[in-house]
Amino acid sequence: MNTSESTSRSRGKIYLVGAGPGDPGLLTLRGKYLLERAEVVVYDYLANKKLLQHVPASAHLIYVGKKGGGMHAFSQEEINRMLVEQGLAGKMVVRLKGGDPFIFGRGAEEIEELVAAGIPFEVVPGVTSATAAATYAGIPITHRRYTASVAFITGHEDPTKLESNIHWDKLATGAGTLVIFMGIKNLPFITAKLMEHGRSPDTPVAVVRWASTPEQQSVEGTLATITEVVREAGIKPPALIIVGEVVKLRSTIDWYERRPLFGKRIVVTRTREQASDLVALLEEYGANCLEYSTINIEPVDDYQILDREIARLSSCDWLIFTSLNAVTYFFRRLRELGLDARSLAGARIAVVGRATGVELQRYGITADLVPEKFTGEGLAEALITAGVDKKRIVIPRALVARDVLPEMLTEAGAEVIIAPVYQNVPPKGRKEQLREELAAGAIDMVTFTSSSTVTNFLTMVDAASPVELQQLMAGVEIATIGPITAKTVVESGLQVGVQPEHYTIPDMVQAIVAHYCRTGDGA
Ligand code: SAH
Repeated sequence: MNTSESTSRSRGKIYLVGAGPGDPGLLTLRGKYLLERAEVVVYDYLANKKLLQHVPASAHLIYVGKKGGGMHAFSQEEINRMLVEQGLAGKMVVRLKGGDPFIFGRGAEEIEELVAAGIPFEVVPGVTSATAAATYAGIPITHRRYTASVAFITGHEDPTKLESNIHWDKLATGAGTLVIFMGIKNLPFITAKLMEHGRSPDTPVAVVRWASTPEQQSVEGTLATITEVVREAGIKPPALIIVGEVVKLRSTIDWYERRPLFGKRIVVTRTREQASDLVALLEEYGANCLEYSTINIEPVDDYQILDREIARLSSCDWLIFTSLNAVTYFFRRLRELGLDARSLAGARIAVVGRATGVELQRYGITADLVPEKFTGEGLAEALITAGVDKKRIVIPRALVARDVLPEMLTEAGAEVIIAPVYQNVPPKGRKEQLREELAAGAIDMVTFTSSSTVTNFLTMVDAASPVELQQLMAGVEIATIGPITAKTVVESGLQVGVQPEHYTIPDMVQAIVAHYCRTGDGA
């Protein structure tokens, strides 16, 4: 390591990273690479929180707020000072900023402070909302038939300021397309200035709010009408104003808001680990997915029993895994104890079904016994046939689980030890939010992929009576994966509106899309 590198290491480095306009898929590869290695992340209101999933769990996250018009969580000076402090402390800091850091992002102001303090930095451009908002509203900001120039303008200036930096007289007709940031509050002033300086009142204008997110909202008018259109639609910041003939192309190109599930707010109720397939598919069609995982899988608080059994695995006759999670959490604990699969050498191993067996093979172990019937009863019968009298059987499993298997084995003369390795816990704090959303009529559909998701959902909703449940769920469509899940829904007094012919996630999504296309309610 040369001297300059070691000096910069000890002083840390600040990476100003453009977060893109909102859609988490629009982050650059460089940005993702840096987030994955960050020790500290300082992020803004406009940077999508979903990007934080790239950050290591050990990283320190600092939200510095800044909401147009509202309270500033931190002043620019405080942010500058914080970055310098973190840099001097030797940290690898990602300063995540909405859109591109150098387009109305005050990126340069932060860098000037870093330069003054001698702290190394790097800047990673981002997809600016200026182009993304237009693109996601179906507007190409240039088109050789309509315009040869674009101007990016801030609309934030105080209209009462005597000396303006913005030459509205020149801009009004000087550039074909105008993209105006932070201009919603000043929209009447801006449109008046443009018309006063010769831009036709008939010039098409679009306003796009929360572009490239499921909340995107866009409206269209002319210089003469847009103020009223925006007022009627109740559009608030953050939004961009796009002025110019290119706005006309929207009627042909608008692709994002025309997707069949755009604007639909769909609840997905699965455990965190499993929800992603369904969410990804629904999002492809434009749905706004609200993930209410009804169960979280967590390690148990006390590993005493398991640790004791691991220490004497050589005297165990059968080790039984009744779920995929049991395998995962068992081996996680083994690793924490500094051990590996060799500790299992003495015991025979049984699994409840094929999927659990496949999971086990990931650790280099092939199960000695997989029952023909993949249930607790099936497994117990197969073991009893193999002979369990006076055998020591260890079952690592969930803290709370069905007791059929251990009971049947004990009755057949086995010594059964249940060792909790993981627990199912309801996620905290989400219950109230779900009830509020339902009560406000803000949910279009709820999806269920198993009977237990129905039961857990009902527990979360926690209706005081069947009548209250009906009220909360009025107007909410229900989609289920198959007939068994549907039966559980019907038994709770609710109705199923969508069910696929084949019981798979992709088929369920297709059925949902078909449902909205059929009802003509698709976006
Ligand atoms: N550096 C950012 C702009 C920051 S200024 C960029 O390159 O995009 C903040 C303004 O950007 C907002 O007031 C709004 O006008 C615009 N903006 C940012 N993200 C937006 C989004 N997703 N949809 C619409 N406008 C957005």
